[in-house]
Amino acid sequence: SQVSTDMTTLTREVEKFAADKKVEIEKLEVREAYRKELLGNIAHELKTPLFTVQGYILTLLDGAHKDKAIRKKYLQRASKGVDRLIYIVKDLDMITKLETSDLTVYQEVFNIVELINSVFDLYEMKASRKNITLMFDRNYDKPILVYADEEKVQQVLSNLVVNSIKYGKKDGTTEVSIEDLTQDKVIIRVTDNGEGIANVNIPRLFERFYRVDKSGSRREGGSGLGLAIVKHIVEAHNEKIYVESVLGVGSEFSFTLEKDKEAIPTNAPVVST
Ligand code: ADP
Repeated sequence: SQVSTDMTTLTREVEKFAADKKVEIEKLEVREAYRKELLGNIAHELKTPLFTVQGYILTLLDGAHKDKAIRKKYLQRASKGVDRLIYIVKDLDMITKLETSDLTVYQEVFNIVELINSVFDLYEMKASRKNITLMFDRNYDKPILVYADEEKVQQVLSNLVVNSIKYGKKDGTTEVSIEDLTQDKVIIRVTDNGEGIANVNIPRLFERFYRVDKSGSRREGGSGLGLAIVKHIVEAHNEKIYVESVLGVGSEFSFTLEKDKEAIPTNAPVVST
């Protein structure tokens, strides 16, 4: 019964082919749904600043331009709206590159202490507007050398520090600390005593466009992409990102980085992780 054996083999092959095709179609459907959702999110994010800018321009055209003071005020506001659009487009560009792994990580040795200080310099003004104190143990007078992509780590730190200010309480604090995690890794923590995040929202925080507070009114700028970018960058380094938060108490975001090999003493005890 060679014929029936051949038939069984053939039937199996046909079944396998059909099953494979089904999986392929399902994958395409998921991708299509993902693409639609992404486009919807982008349109939604761009709409608000676009309408704002258009609003100011139309008011100016409608006669407001005749008053010099109002003209200046409205142009400044329109310009702020355009700034926001630029910011969103930049974040979108970044996330697209990260998600299509089109972004190369250029690792080099640099002093993370210096980088943290320079990020603080950038956001000192923003923090002072809410009377938030930026704290970084300045006793780190010695350099701490890490091996990573400096520009991208700067983006990670900036996003985390900006969030801690945005979601921080007035008169609060943002603290950055560096600690040895293992013989060859450090962990960097960004801690605030701000509004905190409820447990139910924590698993979705790093999704793009995910926001705990969806109401536009309380939203403080941002694109909803900050943490998605942070996660991608950290993972592109094969490192880890953690979050701990208590609603009403504060949040701590931390991530690991590789130490500069030269900085690891060769006689150091082996620490297993
Ligand atoms: P956004 O542009 O909305 O800040 P992010 O991706 O940076 O986007 O953050 C996503 C959401 O996570 C925020 O909308 C906010 O709800 C929450 N979040 C982020 N950082 C903090 C923080 N330090 N404290 C409280 N909530 C935070």
